[in-house]
Amino acid sequence: MRHSETVTFGGSGLVRAAHLRGDAEALTRLRAGGGQVLVLWRGRIPVADTGGLVWVAADHPLVAGLPAPVFLGLDDGIARFAVDLPGWVPAEGAPTPAFLDQSRIRHPQLAADHGFAELRAEMTRLTAREAELAATARAILGWHSSHGFCAACGAATEMVNAGWQRACAQCGAQHFPRTDPVVIMLITRGNRALLGRSPGWPEGMYSCLAGFMEPGETVEAAVRREVAEETGIRVGAVRYLASQPWPFPASLMIGCAGEALSETITLDPVELEDALWVSREELMEAMAGAHPVIHPARKGSIAHFLLSNWLADRLF
Ligand SMILES: [Zn+2]
Repeated sequence: MRHSETVTFGGSGLVRAAHLRGDAEALTRLRAGGGQVLVLWRGRIPVADTGGLVWVAADHPLVAGLPAPVFLGLDDGIARFAVDLPGWVPAEGAPTPAFLDQSRIRHPQLAADHGFAELRAEMTRLTAREAELAATARAILGWHSSHGFCAACGAATEMVNAGWQRACAQCGAQHFPRTDPVVIMLITRGNRALLGRSPGWPEGMYSCLAGFMEPGETVEAAVRREVAEETGIRVGAVRYLASQPWPFPASLMIGCAGEALSETITLDPVELEDALWVSREELMEAMAGAHPVIHPARKGSIAHFLLSNWLADRLF
């Protein structure tokens, strides 16, 4: 697909400088010499009200006493790091989880117009470089927070290699950050696309079908299986289009196009609340916010990206 990497989180060519990860001395030097740290709180990213990520110096009071940060890479010569702020609870209490949480959580050690925000709510306001850094930070810090124990022997593990590995002193096992592949597919038949909605989504929201890949499966097989399971539609040719890191918590969305060989929808009510065929004309109306029923996947998601490019005839 042309322009595939212009998708949100599509990457910006960050120099990850993996050769420095094992060099503790060099990393200490980089941190002290103008290194910048992104402090995440409960998966939220620090942003300015005017837009953009908020970075702090390695000796900022917010970072004092925290464990060593993860080294993200070199951003035009500036060493970028990320660290989790555990344990802190704002005076007004932690926010209640919401589908699209727009709130800003203020911290006494951040400026008054800075706050922790949900990455999903901010992702389209970030530059490509910021989006890559924020997605990387969220994914890898999330992995550390949920992989504190060895999957082989159960002992506590420790972060090594500047955050890109965890080691088990008990049995010697090495653990690496995981990424979970998800297929997401634009299934078409002539002038129409197949969209579905999951239970619990905001009213009227429809998107491309998607599902986790299973061990032993190709991308093509996963596309055909998921579509058949959820809607009973048979899919023929499958083509890869674009991918998107989706750090909620650790997915890689693999966007594909698939040609439907059948039309009758047989819904799996556990997976989907509804599925339907939508014409280009209807979808155009929906994307413009003018459709009476259908609200498409929101901007920033690969589903929105694929659907927009399909409407503009820019898929292949
Ligand atoms: Zn172990």
